[in-house]
Amino acid sequence: MPDLAEFRDSLDGELFSPGSPGYDAIRRPAGAACREARPRLVVVCRSVSDVARAIRYAAANGDRAVPRGGGHCFAGRSSTGGIVLDMSGLDRIRVADDRVATVGAGARLGPVYAALAARGRTLPGGCGPTVGITGLTLGGGIGLLGRKHGLTCDRLAGARVVLADGSVVDCDHDDEPDLFWALHGSGGGQFGVVTSLRFRTVPEPMTTRIEAHWADTALAELVAAWQAWAPAAPDELTVNLTLVSEPGAPVRATLFGAAALEEGPTRVLLREFTNLAPAAHVIELRTGVPYHRLKDTFADLDSRDVPGRAVRIRSEFFSRPLSDRTLAALLAQLADPGTTGRRQLTFTAMGGAYNRVADDVTAFAHRGEHFLLEHVGDAADPWTSRSWATAHAEGSGRVYPNFPDPELDDWAAAYHAGNYPRLAGVKAAYDPHRFFDFPQAI
Ligand SMILES: Cc1cc2nc3c(=O)[nH]c(=O)nc-3n(C[C@H](O)[C@H](O)[C@H](O)COP(=O)(O)OP(=O)(O)OC[C@H]3O[C@@H](n4cnc5c(N)ncnc54)[C@H](O)[C@@H]3O)c2cc1C
Repeated sequence: MPDLAEFRDSLDGELFSPGSPGYDAIRRPAGAACREARPRLVVVCRSVSDVARAIRYAAANGDRAVPRGGGHCFAGRSSTGGIVLDMSGLDRIRVADDRVATVGAGARLGPVYAALAARGRTLPGGCGPTVGITGLTLGGGIGLLGRKHGLTCDRLAGARVVLADGSVVDCDHDDEPDLFWALHGSGGGQFGVVTSLRFRTVPEPMTTRIEAHWADTALAELVAAWQAWAPAAPDELTVNLTLVSEPGAPVRATLFGAAALEEGPTRVLLREFTNLAPAAHVIELRTGVPYHRLKDTFADLDSRDVPGRAVRIRSEFFSRPLSDRTLAALLAQLADPGTTGRRQLTFTAMGGAYNRVADDVTAFAHRGEHFLLEHVGDAADPWTSRSWATAHAEGSGRVYPNFPDPELDDWAAAYHAGNYPRLAGVKAAYDPHRFFDFPQAI
């Protein structure tokens, strides 16, 4: 068995074990799932060699090793009782003259957007500033510029990956093309440990921020109007809808999003929606907001990441609007006061550039969907599954790989649909002994 002291001395980064100073802080993932996991070791990787050495050390000891970026995986897949490879020491971000950005795999979204914005560039991607760029990209990457520029993974130009045998490969469209294809949206931690990603960036737009509120309104009418309009709106516009219920208060509805347009044209496009929807109590437009600043302004709408609160999230894609009957049932369940705290439904618009890619061009197989519906409740609240089951009757059966759901029956079809056989082939080629494994892994 390899010697632990020798392994520690070989590292550019740091090694933490139970009892060592700092272990308790570093062992915990950001997400509530698996906060109590106690890995045998946490390796803070500061070089590609650290990742390779840690994988070889884990394999020689019969340990599991899992990479951790932002630590937000809803299913706790970046935690283990074995060895956590904490990628936070590999977080360098560089933008070359050809506007290709090379991003260390441990970088979080906040610093990525800030570094790109300093060069007038950005990426279509998610909102949470502490979400890891690698977890986001490997699972797809949905965000407020996605209807215009597609998923984060659609901007991927290449990646460096350490495989299960400790070897290092660079992949892109020409080299290791199957591995490169598989990294586009099939989910993290499946084939190897990514140490850096290269992206074709896009110009950072100036946006008009949109926020509107309803309370005590005709919710069914509002959702029906959103369903008819938002997924088919022009690409410049991404507008999502949340419905929040809390004990003792009426359901609050918030429309939020942005247009990569000036205020005037934004108002014109919004008029199509306001003609359909009940009048809002407040509609607020703020112009001249750079895209990277826009994201922070929506932080308090996100109930997925409230410190100290363990939530349960179930979700599904929909390729057609919910029927009046199902919508009525969903809203009745949401409004039922309960005692367990906050419940949230979030409708995220797809369509646009997301859907102008064939299902098999990338590993992300969900290119014909109109919207994504999330049900977010307290961990112990049975409402989440009840609400999910009500909507599921009309869902497409597809689930976003970045929102893993341990309760799915047919997870392979839900996450990967027709791409599963090719993904299974890539898994067999690059990780034949299933060193990287977890429930619902390819
Ligand atoms: C507050 C919040 C906001 C969010 N907002 C959005 C959003 O706007 N849009 C969106 O699409 N999603 C969003 N998500 C979901 C998010 O995309 C996923 O939770 C994502 O997997 C998180 O990545 P991570 O690196 O933070 O998590 P981690 O738990 O570190 O990683 C997720 C998975 O990727 C693997 N992984 C991590 N690093 C590597 C690596 N270097 N190589 C290989 N595998 C790796 C892990 O082992 C794990 O399986 C949000 C989540 C939260 C909690």
